[in-house]
Amino acid sequence: MQTNIIKNLLNPALTDEADKILRSCVHCGFCTATCPTYQIFSDELDGPRGRIYLIKQMLEGQPATKKTLTHLDRCLSCRSCETTCPSAVQYSRLLDIGKYLAEKQIKRSFLSNLARKSLLSLLLSKKLFHLTITAIQPFKSLLPKSIEPKVAIASTKLNWPIEKHRRKVLLLTGCVQNTLAPVIDKQLAHLLNHCAIQTIPIQGCCGALPQHLSAEDKATLIFKKNIDQWTKYIDQGIEAIIMSSSGCGATLKQYQSYLQYDKAYRNKAKVFTNLVVDPVEILEKETAFLSQKKIPHSDLTMAFHAPCTLQHGLGVHTKVENLLTTLGYKLVPVKDAHLCCGSAGSYSIFHPKIAKHLLTNKIAELQAGQAAILATSNIGCLTHLNSQAQQPVKHWLSVVYENLKD
Ligand code: SF4
Ligand code: SF4
Repeated sequence: MQTNIIKNLLNPALTDEADKILRSCVHCGFCTATCPTYQIFSDELDGPRGRIYLIKQMLEGQPATKKTLTHLDRCLSCRSCETTCPSAVQYSRLLDIGKYLAEKQIKRSFLSNLARKSLLSLLLSKKLFHLTITAIQPFKSLLPKSIEPKVAIASTKLNWPIEKHRRKVLLLTGCVQNTLAPVIDKQLAHLLNHCAIQTIPIQGCCGALPQHLSAEDKATLIFKKNIDQWTKYIDQGIEAIIMSSSGCGATLKQYQSYLQYDKAYRNKAKVFTNLVVDPVEILEKETAFLSQKKIPHSDLTMAFHAPCTLQHGLGVHTKVENLLTTLGYKLVPVKDAHLCCGSAGSYSIFHPKIAKHLLTNKIAELQAGQAAILATSNIGCLTHLNSQAQQPVKHWLSVVYENLKD
């Protein structure tokens, strides 16, 4: 794509980066076919190619309008378009730059700003989030059926394993999952313990939410704090950095990209990013350990929802499904598995109608194979699916853990 970018809209490095991404797009439109919002609206501007065009116009000096911001806001950041794109266009990076530029020109309404800031404050204060969710528990049955599963705290009756091993991984416990379902991290730690790998849990947030809500300064502080806090473990030889929620893992994997212009952190961020893996990338190499322990459930059928953050963000395609099959689970095929369920971080809060539409489609596809349970790998997707599914919805790590022999 030819461009004529205005030089003084962004700093020179960001301008060059945006220009390079724009020029890599050949405008073929393959991405449009796999874009969930294009499928809903049938409007070019609600697909990746149209959004790329809107960002190009802004970078070439055309003022952003409210309509520009609306089309950019409607993007789920699911990155399905990136997986489809034959030219490896870094769409999500361009979207970040485009939203930054649009928000500099277009003011959001007072109520929209208030909602975004309140959500950010709630989720960034672990104590406040925990207190709020805990306070809701006695009254959660009074909430609408679609909300109740999103605030329910799962049982946590499990201790961290105490064994020490030579092989060690670092695990960030995150914020939302750490309140709603902290047991998942413990179950993962036990699975790794069975494979003679020790898990070192570290409390903290990955920074995904402020990054998605265009609070880049807050997000950058979190990225740097995490890198500073974890450097000593990296120096001690931990073999990987993991998170059981793929939404957080996908954010960790982008630290190198987010901090590429920070001279003090870019090299550290590169080392850090190279260590980030999804738990399945460790467990898939340890099937001998796990097979000794598992109870085969030949009658247990499962439909797996691969979150966008797992398949498009972390680029982990079908690994969970393959591992589950190796371990003896019967997975039913799921049509349109590349499409988002509508959870998408804070998206379901700010775009409830689109999120509901996507959820209804996703649930229909997941239930088509009559599976006994639904499994996924991200806490946001898990609670979102749970708000409409007939079957139990679990993290796939929980399913494997619960079927281990002692
Ligand atoms: S598939 Fe890639 S190259 Fe083609 S229009 Fe989409 S982003 Fe551009
Ligand atoms: S990130 Fe998802 S919703 Fe956004 S343009 Fe790409 S495919 Fe469409």
